[in-house]
Amino acid sequence: MPRRFPIRAKLTVGALAPLFVAFFICSLTGLYIIDAKITSQAQEKVRTDLNSAREAYRNELHHINELLELTADNPFAAISISSGNRPSISSLLTPLLHKKHLDILTAVDKEGRVLFRAHNPARFGDTPVNTYFIDQALRGKTVTGTTVLSPEQLAAEKDELTAQARIDVVTTPHSRPRQSSVERAGMVMVSAAPVLDSAGRVAGALYCAELLNNNNDLVDKIKDTVYEGVKFKGQDVGTATLFLGDTRIATNVHASNGRRAIGTQLSAEVYNRVILENRKWVGRAFVVNDWYLTAYEPIVGLRGEVIGSLYVGMLEKQYSALKNNVNTILVVVLFISSLIGLAVSGVIGTHLATPIKELEQLTRRVTLGERNLHIDVRSADELGDLAGGFNQMTRALAHRESEITMLNRSLEQKVLKRTAQLEEKNALLLETQADLAKAEKLADLGVIAAGVAHEINNPLAVIRGNIEFLEMCLPPDHANREEVGIISQQVERIAKIVGNLQVFARQKKLHQGQVNIHDLLDGILGQIGHQVPMDAIAVVREYASDLAMIRGDGDQLRQVFTNLILNAVQAMGGKGVLTLATKGVAPLDGCEVSISDTGPGIGPGQLKKIFTPFFTTKDTGSGLGLSISYGIIKDHGGDIKVSSVEGKGTTFKVTIP
Ligand code: ADP
Repeated sequence: MPRRFPIRAKLTVGALAPLFVAFFICSLTGLYIIDAKITSQAQEKVRTDLNSAREAYRNELHHINELLELTADNPFAAISISSGNRPSISSLLTPLLHKKHLDILTAVDKEGRVLFRAHNPARFGDTPVNTYFIDQALRGKTVTGTTVLSPEQLAAEKDELTAQARIDVVTTPHSRPRQSSVERAGMVMVSAAPVLDSAGRVAGALYCAELLNNNNDLVDKIKDTVYEGVKFKGQDVGTATLFLGDTRIATNVHASNGRRAIGTQLSAEVYNRVILENRKWVGRAFVVNDWYLTAYEPIVGLRGEVIGSLYVGMLEKQYSALKNNVNTILVVVLFISSLIGLAVSGVIGTHLATPIKELEQLTRRVTLGERNLHIDVRSADELGDLAGGFNQMTRALAHRESEITMLNRSLEQKVLKRTAQLEEKNALLLETQADLAKAEKLADLGVIAAGVAHEINNPLAVIRGNIEFLEMCLPPDHANREEVGIISQQVERIAKIVGNLQVFARQKKLHQGQVNIHDLLDGILGQIGHQVPMDAIAVVREYASDLAMIRGDGDQLRQVFTNLILNAVQAMGGKGVLTLATKGVAPLDGCEVSISDTGPGIGPGQLKKIFTPFFTTKDTGSGLGLSISYGIIKDHGGDIKVSSVEGKGTTFKVTIP
């Protein structure tokens, strides 16, 4: 048998399964959307941050340029430079150093020869080579931007700059191979402006620069401006870096030792994209020792060549944490919603399953035999229909059963009736069979009796004749006359027996006629007194008033009733009550005659034998009276029955159709 799975659970599962599938899909979609949204927003922010950083960088350049131009435009500057007056150039340039930290501040004449270096006054008169910005300024153009200066150029401007510019390159597995492990060149923000005389001719030029190597002021300023010092778990969320080529020269990204990660390198991938291809890079990147959402853009030199890059990045961790938080909230909300869904579907399941359970229990009770069960039809749906159907079914069942019970009862009664009829018929059959056997026996006996009577009759007639002759011949006083008399008596007796035998053999045919039973009985009673004493016998007549005449042989019927009355009187020993009763028998239109006495009755042993020929309990009886009577009544199509109670009396009932 399959495992039982209650309908309530099925309903709950049925309701929850799509819910959970929907929840699952929603969760995945939600998580995916949240992840994508947060990531894209973070990347958008980094892109914006990069714009801000670029602005800060440009501001710095602009600021340097402004200061320089202000000084270059000073008419006093043109005079001093034109005249090569170094003390007056010094007095012009030195206040500038107080306004702004500048690593290089130099004045050149119109030939490009150095007139005065603010940080290295002792060195002058040389002509710096490979200085595009000086060339441009001497051509009357103001140039501001980023450029790279060689260690020698730096050393010429200011001794300390060599050391400041030196960076030990830290190679990492992601970095590209490089020849030197030390960076000595310096990336500088530079501005150069022509100094024009009153006629507008170029009298010389001024240039200033700020070395960016190991100068973290700018990157920190960018970080502070863009990220406003926001921290995540004690770590700065935002970082900014300046690269010279592939090397970090100024940064607030920290290495694992806690120091600024100066000298670490760009990954080859970013280098190729930003430095070589001169394109922006926005994306997720592993920076020094952590994952960042980063944006890089090339820093282009004065002649349009890419010399380094500007980087901003945000710790990915904080976004991961944000994502995790949002995801956790989403999962918790979905989980709680699932629980609520579970509870709600449980309640709905219970609500739906209750009538089903009730139906199931009622069905079980119906199976066990209960009827007249009713379930309330509560809902207008299939369950309601089911309950209605159940109620209809139990009603129909009860009705059908009561019909069956009634049918059963009538069937039982019919069976009982038929059985009784059958038993009656059986008894009748047995009786008929017995009668038939008896009749056959009697018939056989009759044949014998007739033969015997015939054979005895002739010698008996001879004996009778001779006895009569002998009696006549003997004188009245003869000594043997008594013996002859006895012989004569016995011969008469034999003759009587032979007569009876002949009657028994029924050689007599029925002479049918109309017989009045009452007259017949009264006639017998009138004559019987001659045969037996009737003085002490009380005769009771219970004759039916409306008894019709019957058809039959009057002589033979007289013999029957004589026998029966004689037997009754003899049984009572001449004293008692003899009751003769008659009544009509409707179906046969005949009559029933009963002859009752108050004699000693007949014992059960004898009762079976009394109709047997020659059965007698009397000394002088022939035992043929009842068997002859039986034969006559049977010839009339009737019946004789006897009932007897010992010590009380006997009743013979004769029925004649
Ligand atoms: P019989 O009268 O010659 O004896 P039956 O055939 O008339 O022959 O009777 C047979 C026997 O039935 C009787 O001997 C008697 O024992 C018994 N019998 C008949 N009628 C009665 C009766 N009314 N009461 C008691 N016994 C009876």
